[in-house]
Amino acid sequence: MQYTLKEVVNHLKTQGFVFQGSEIYGGLANSWDFGPLGIELERNLKNLWWQHFIAKSKYNVGLDSSILMNNNVWKASGHLGNFADPLLDCKKCKMRMRADKLIEDNYPKLNCGGWSNEQLSAFITEKNISCPNCGAHDFTDIRQFELMFKTNQGVIEDEKSVVYLRPETAQGIFVNFKNVQRSLRKKLPFGIGQIGKSFRNEITPENFIFRTREFEQMELEFFYDSKEKIDWFEYWVQEVTKFLTLINLKAENYLFREHDASELAHYAKRTIDIEYKFPFGTGELWGIADRGDYDLRRHSEVSKQDLTYLNQETNEKILPHVIEPSVGVGRLMLAVLYDAYHIEKVSDNETRVVLKLSPLLAPYQIAVIPLSKQLNKAAYQLYEELLMRFQCIYDKTGNIGKRYRRQDAIGTPFCVTFDFESATDQKVTVRNRDTMQQERVAIANLENYFIAV
Ligand code: ATP
Repeated sequence: MQYTLKEVVNHLKTQGFVFQGSEIYGGLANSWDFGPLGIELERNLKNLWWQHFIAKSKYNVGLDSSILMNNNVWKASGHLGNFADPLLDCKKCKMRMRADKLIEDNYPKLNCGGWSNEQLSAFITEKNISCPNCGAHDFTDIRQFELMFKTNQGVIEDEKSVVYLRPETAQGIFVNFKNVQRSLRKKLPFGIGQIGKSFRNEITPENFIFRTREFEQMELEFFYDSKEKIDWFEYWVQEVTKFLTLINLKAENYLFREHDASELAHYAKRTIDIEYKFPFGTGELWGIADRGDYDLRRHSEVSKQDLTYLNQETNEKILPHVIEPSVGVGRLMLAVLYDAYHIEKVSDNETRVVLKLSPLLAPYQIAVIPLSKQLNKAAYQLYEELLMRFQCIYDKTGNIGKRYRRQDAIGTPFCVTFDFESATDQKVTVRNRDTMQQERVAIANLENYFIAV
């Protein structure tokens, strides 16, 4: 890809999409705040996900479960004890890193997701892999590093009051499976989705909002009877692909990667990752996993509750199987913003930065621009009218060319310019962000015009 992470990040910071977290205090490592434009884009993205996977789905319903949960949830899910990264330090420069990532960075074709610490250690020694920071070949033993954030609930800080911030939203769904199924009298197949914050004490948060310690996920757990003949895994791969097309992500910028057996997580029977070609490398964007009946089985065992589903036609009790499409909001935003970022030559001595965001995602769909101060009153009235129907911004400062560039830079698909003739002919000039073409449109037809394009 032609643009670097640094230039895209600089653009997003100066335009008010993303700011460094706690910036006036020197920041907090790898924490980011979404500014006024970032939050509009984020909300549009989350709303579209909700529409596509929940509100307009024939099968699915929504949920909002709490971040703090009973510790037994994490015992059952395998997060307590298992949810850890293999970590080592360089003895010379003291840099801390993940052993699996160290190998994969040196051997990009390898995937050591399922390797034991002994295998990782032996490989690093055999291949004489060096520290990426100082070049030394002397590492500590590999230790497991707990990825869940711990905190204390209540006034007494002792072992009994320890609780964890959830590392994924999925478990909140599994523990509510029976509540949802019973209260809504849902029949299989059906899914439960939610959007919410998750926390992982990542050792190496990296690449801007690609990997952070606090992040948001959009997860769907789809429950079905494994005896059904329908290939639900394929169905959800198709639905995710449809969604990526809906938000205009360019198909040439992502790929589907099937996990091989050694890489599958302990709960998964099959996994496909949709990976995006970021400028710092190809990275997981959206994971689609066949989790079998692992989660409901584990929660039944640990909670001693009956989480089976009664098929009323056959009178048979079954544990439903689960397909999980799971994506991080920040990662998806980063991919969307990369895809959209372009620097274009407009004339021999002028370039423009333009974010070619889908109108469904852009922070503002329309900018209303008065050509002169004298037209402010009438233009503002038009802005107020359009605001009732669209996400709009009113932009009255600077010359017209500068205002167009400013709107290009934040991805506004249309500028509506109110000029001296508008008051008499009741028409405005509509400028298209991508083609830069302009056309006269009657004010009375504007709403239909924007709905149609
Ligand atoms: P990775 O291999 O990148 O650590 P993962 O396989 O652990 O990711 P999952 O547990 O499958 O990720 O989580 C589902 C989705 O949540 C990922 O596809 C990703 O979009 C998002 N995600 C996971 N961890 C983070 C993080 N630390 N920061 C931002 N998004 C994340």
